[in-house]
Amino acid sequence: MIAAHGLGKAFGTNRVLQGVSLDLAHGEVVAVIGPSGSGKSTFLRCLNHLETIDEGSVTIDGEPLATAGQDGRSHYVPEREVRRICRKMGMVFQSFNLFPHMTVLQNLIEAPMTVKGLAREAAVAKAEALLDKVGLLAKRDSYPGRLSGGQKQRVAIARALAMEPQIMLFDEPTSALDPELTGEVLRTMRALAQERMTMLVVTHEMGFAREVANRVVFMDQGQLIEQAPAAQFFATPQHPRTQAFLQQML
Ligand code: ATP
Ligand code: MG
Repeated sequence: MIAAHGLGKAFGTNRVLQGVSLDLAHGEVVAVIGPSGSGKSTFLRCLNHLETIDEGSVTIDGEPLATAGQDGRSHYVPEREVRRICRKMGMVFQSFNLFPHMTVLQNLIEAPMTVKGLAREAAVAKAEALLDKVGLLAKRDSYPGRLSGGQKQRVAIARALAMEPQIMLFDEPTSALDPELTGEVLRTMRALAQERMTMLVVTHEMGFAREVANRVVFMDQGQLIEQAPAAQFFATPQHPRTQAFLQQML
């Protein structure tokens, strides 16, 4: 579903990604872990074109989204194509990013109506089903400001799902939450994984990575240092930097 090959990205002289390659199969759940500043968010943002890349290529579901030669000149993918391909991916951020001036329901129907051209009735029906699924149908007419962090994040997940993505990208979806609110968001994500949604999850939740992810990837200083099936990753980490990171996390 996602094939990233040799991704390179620099901000000025700061080489944030240095040859990162990752393949994600349909229905796979992959957790990305690593220290702060290692390039996890940048990597995710390169996958759905929120950042341009300097080197390498990104292919989504067999379609090239971005390629860059060693000279840094990007192969041109028309803007319409980029938008269409990116719609295959939903993204959930640490900071929720709900539209504050819209109710929960409006947050969910906005993009399906304006981007996908869904009729209002159909968009509302879909939104209600998704809100029910994340346990927040009763909040359909509330404004985000009236929700707890965990509720906001579950709305953000439902909003991403309303666009019917084939892949969900999560960037530390629980790290802005108090511990008691983290569980409800992780439960929602776990349910999604059980439905075989393809998911790439940047997380500090080692329990979630161990129990829900099929595969865990460790990034450090812009490089993908190690990846392995979750159980194996935690039981027998191979690289000294992975070992040091896990020791400090667990
Ligand atoms: P964290 O766990 O703290 O979220 P991260 O692994 O997600 O960290 P990134 O946010 O990808 O790390 O940042 C990697 C590096 O890129 C950092 O040195 C950061 O300062 C730098 N960086 C990220 N975004 C930008 C930007 N827009 N402009 C300049 N530098 C940036
Ligand atoms: Mg980050």
